[in-house]
Amino acid sequence: MKTVIVKMRDGIDEAGICRAGEILRSGGLVAFPTETVYGLGANALDAEAAGKIYRAKGRPSDNPLIVHIADWDAIRKIAIDIPAEAKRLADAFWPGPLTMILKKSDAVPFATTGGLDTVAVRLPGNAAARALIRAGGGYVAAPSANTSGRPSPTKAEHVVQDMDGVIDMIIDGGDVEIGIESTIVDLTDEAPTILRPGYISREMLGRVLGTVEVDRALTSEDESLRPKAPGMKYRHYAPRAQLFIVQGTQRQVREKINELAAANAAAGRSTGVIGTDESREYYANALVKSIGSRQDESSIARHLYGILREFDDSEVSVIYSEAFDTPQLGQAVMNRLIKAAGHQIILCGI
Ligand code: AMP
Ligand code: MG
Repeated sequence: MKTVIVKMRDGIDEAGICRAGEILRSGGLVAFPTETVYGLGANALDAEAAGKIYRAKGRPSDNPLIVHIADWDAIRKIAIDIPAEAKRLADAFWPGPLTMILKKSDAVPFATTGGLDTVAVRLPGNAAARALIRAGGGYVAAPSANTSGRPSPTKAEHVVQDMDGVIDMIIDGGDVEIGIESTIVDLTDEAPTILRPGYISREMLGRVLGTVEVDRALTSEDESLRPKAPGMKYRHYAPRAQLFIVQGTQRQVREKINELAAANAAAGRSTGVIGTDESREYYANALVKSIGSRQDESSIARHLYGILREFDDSEVSVIYSEAFDTPQLGQAVMNRLIKAAGHQIILCGI
């Protein structure tokens, strides 16, 4: 299949959106930018089209898709028993990086929800994304536009790497703003519960809703607990090299990483390091990449996936990453990084 790439870095190209909308309405696949990561879109109300997403990504069929809408009223067609909290959250955070889990209506096929009787809904902040959703019929199922198991795409080049020749169209909107996926909050349980941390933190949700729970499977060491978001049980974003997170004081971490890198060099193994603008000059014997600045935590979130992909294109066999427990985004960033590392953490000073 020939994949058409349409550039929309400097605003919306109406003709391109129109063509993309036609593809979606006739059951095809279009990758598009959102403020979180690039999405791989299909008509959410068409079971066959949704099925194509799973095939293109190699995604397990029990991992449901988020349905993207372009305005609040659209929610009534796909969800039932919508609680008052949903509107309060929408008023506070939509358009934006928040996904709500609600009871699904019969309009949504089980192919889209991975067999669940709930549906995930989001109204994205990116204007091109909303234009596309409207042009495509109003309901676009879109997981991240990567091959399953690879880091989510934060620029169109990443989508091209994974999806060229596999889907109908890629809308190139340049680099995304946030770089990690939406916060998912479940409103079908007794108390609102975070199923996946993201840019919208627990504190931000708490200011609107009062108490907000966090799915225990996210933080517990108990591996028998099943995450309520089926996708969270998969080991995502695994880089080709072995990845370790090194935790401790800044000084301990730098010394430990240098010690390990020197030992690797002596053994003929090449090392990669994920540091920051502040720390990169301290490392030796390694390919060092800065993820961003600790003074600007959004820069760290924005570059995480791109850096993991860059290391996949390099020759390093082991990567050490600093930990990034920053105030607002730290939980979301560390959730992704710990998964990418397969929970391999080196604790300094113990
Ligand atoms: P992605 O769009 O690739 O970021 O993946 C979507 C995430 O949303 C996955 O982790 C899914 O398991 C989760 N998700 C989608 N629909 C539901 C649902 N109805 N209930 C719980 N989690 C969901
Ligand atoms: Mg994904």
